[in-house]
Formats: sequence, structure tokens, C-alpha cells
Amino acid sequence: MPFLHRLRLGQVQLTMGAQLPLLEQPAPMRLADERLRGTRFLEVHSRSVLNAPASTHMEFWSINPYVGCEFGCSYCYARDTHRWTVERAGGLEGSGDDAALAFERNILVKQNAARVLERTLDPARIGSVTIVIGTATDPYQPGERKFGITRSILDAFRRYRGLSLGIITKSPLIVRDLDLLMELSLQHRLRVNISLATTDPTLARRLEARSPVPSARLRALTRLREAGLEAGLLVAPVIPGITDRRPSLARLFAAARRADASFITCSPLRLGPATRATFLPKLEKEFPRLVSRYRLHYARHDHASQAYRDALRTRVNDLRARYGFPPAAAQDDDAETAAPPAPPQLNLL
Ligand code: SF4
Repeated sequence: MPFLHRLRLGQVQLTMGAQLPLLEQPAPMRLADERLRGTRFLEVHSRSVLNAPASTHMEFWSINPYVGCEFGCSYCYARDTHRWTVERAGGLEGSGDDAALAFERNILVKQNAARVLERTLDPARIGSVTIVIGTATDPYQPGERKFGITRSILDAFRRYRGLSLGIITKSPLIVRDLDLLMELSLQHRLRVNISLATTDPTLARRLEARSPVPSARLRALTRLREAGLEAGLLVAPVIPGITDRRPSLARLFAAARRADASFITCSPLRLGPATRATFLPKLEKEFPRLVSRYRLHYARHDHASQAYRDALRTRVNDLRARYGFPPAAAQDDDAETAAPPAPPQLNLL
């Protein structure tokens, strides 16, 4: 069974409070780099980098080489966890909007991640459970070019055999590591998820401040497939009223087919407290007609309603059949199967 059958990205992000890295701090964090626009990269020393299923309440292990993400997607659920992590590491952030934005401005770099992984990874304990890299922040975000933490983690996995590994990224930087990924795919089960919400570059830029353009991500997917790797599209989140129309989703499926994707999975938007602080102002500015509907729909819950998720699943499965992808289990396209009902004001368009 593909590991993504058990991977519910939104829930990963929702439960990230339980995924906080064990840091050897609090102590002054070393400033490792700084961008002109003010983004700071701060080195931290972790005591643990593998998040256990028991602590995340997910069915897989996870590793996040960085805390915070420079891509700065307005809808990113991991904003809700960044404040807690940084506070535990000694505290840097402000409050309210500042705290939400700190997610993309104060990036913690787990400088010793590979060493800690080699010291703590026990294959017998992991068993057949998948280890997913990049469940909460992008492992190939721009800082990876300089810091190479993700590559060092992949390199550490060369010393093992027979694990099930997954990677989630929006970045074509992943092809830098093609040699390593191909080597790992011979030793382990390896599955790469290229995250893409829309094929429209203008819309992507309105939603994702600094993410790679969709065409670059699709080229990366093609390269991964040409190299014989198992790789596909992760459409997460599907954003109600913005990216969920059938033609928009069909363009993603067509692109996935052209790239010879192994799979395509979709998951609807969730709105946690810190995410609201960035996403709702974005809606007010860019999509004002949707604001009142979102406020109603997400008033009492972080997740889309059961009715919305059911309708989305039906649409996605229709598209799978049309574009020649195998049908998927319900949880493939659902961030949380046990969510309580929410009001149905936000209909699939
Ligand atoms: S790339 Fe992923 S982790 Fe980074 S901001 Fe966007 S959604 Fe969040």
C-alpha cells in the first residue's frame, strides 16, 4: 500500500504541537545567515529529529530538517506550530500577526540533524512504518542550498536498508539530490510527493509568497520519473472557491499525466489559528467575495465540512478515472476522516 494511503497532511500539521523538536537550547541561537528582506536563519542543536507516531498521533514517523519555511504560503498550517517551537528554543517571536509571519522570517536550522538521526535511528523500532521528510516545513526550501541539512539526512539513510521513506516538497531543488535519491531507492522504498496547488503561476504567486513556479515543480516531477523514482503530485491544500473548480483540478491531473506521475492526491484546506492570521487577510485583499463564506464555514472548526470533503473526493476520483490514475482510498484525499460536521456554507464550486 502506498505510504500516502496513510498520510493525512493536514492532520500532521494540526498535531504538530506534539512534533516539537527536542532542542538542546534554550541558549543563544547562532545566526547562520540573514536575507536582505530580513529573514534570519538560526542554528539549533536538536536532541531528537525523528518524530514518533505515538507523539504525533499519525501512522508514520516524520523528520523536518527546518522549523519555519521561507516559501511563505499564506495557507500554510505549520505556522500554528512555529511559535511554540521557537518559544521552547528560547523565544524570538512577537505576538499575533508577527508570530504568524515569524514562520517565514525566523527559520531554525537543525544543524546536527544527520548526526542525531544516525545516533537515534533504530530500524527494528521503525519496522515497516514510513519515515516522511518534510511533513511540516519544506525540506528543499531555499536555505537548503546553503545548509544542506536535507541532503545530509538522506546521506545518513545510505547506511541502512529496507526502510520506507517519503519526501514532500514544492521545490525543484530536489533534483540536485537525484543521484542520492536513486541510490536510496535501491535500498529502501522511496516515494516523492511534489506539492502543487495550481498550475496557474499568477494564482500560485497570490497564494504562495516565494514558492517555485508550477512549471518548475512539474519539470522536477518529470525528472524524478525519468530517473525511475516513484513520484507524484500532492495537491494540498485544495482551496475552496479558489482552486477547487473542476477545470482547475483537471489541469493538475493533465499535468500529472504529462509528467508520468505515479499518483495524485488531494487534500482540502484547513485553517488553524495562526494560519487564519495570514490567510484571512490574504482573502480580504485578493478574494473578497469569499471572506464571509470562509468566516462562516471555518468559524467553529479548522477543517472543511464533511459535505465539502465528500464532494471533493467524488470530483477527484472522477478525474482520476478520466486521466488514468488508479482510484484511491477515502483517506488519501481527506485530511481528517473523523472530523465533526461543520456548516455547509462553503460549497464545492
Ligand atoms: S512550502 Fe509547505 S511548509 Fe513551506 S510555507 Fe508552503 S505549505 Fe508551508
